Amino acid sequence: MQRKRIDVLELDVPNLIKLLNKAFADEWLAYYQYWAGARLVKGPLKGAVVAELNEHAQDELVHAEKLATRIIQLGGTPLLEPKEFYEQTNCGITPPTDPRVRTLLEQNIKGEQCAIDIYNQLLKMTKDKDDVTNNLMLELMEDEMEHEHDLQMLLEDLDLMGK
Ligand code: FE
Ligand code: FE
Ligand code: MG
Repeated sequence: MQRKRIDVLELDVPNLIKLLNKAFADEWLAYYQYWAGARLVKGPLKGAVVAELNEHAQDELVHAEKLATRIIQLGGTPLLEPKEFYEQTNCGITPPTDPRVRTLLEQNIKGEQCAIDIYNQLLKMTKDKDDVTNNLMLELMEDEMEHEHDLQMLLEDLDLMGK
């Protein structure tokens, strides 16, 4: 079998794989934060919030899958042990110990803002150097921006209640 042409990439591939794995850890933790939040959330607009959190949980899982695919294409291995998610994460996880709608929305908005920053950094790093990863970073950043927007809109609806 011939070697894959990753040598066309004009960047430090092992370092890129490491950074993609850190984002991969973020996505799994984001998935779990949304998944748990959707099951525990209490308060006004609960139905709409549960639907949004569940949808975002599924999106984060798809992000993890896409990152894993790219890591493997680059010759790397996605993190195989969940304990590594904690060791490698950029954005961490905020467990939904306080299940009130407002708290959960604010915590998840913070997570999305962190994810947007990370993908923006990776977008700049890969620009004109690895178009495939660059496209993926743009796609994920767009999704995270939509996530943040959707959560902000729910927060706005919450603020308008009873006014
Ligand atoms: Fe994501
Ligand atoms: Fe997101
Ligand atoms: Mg949404």
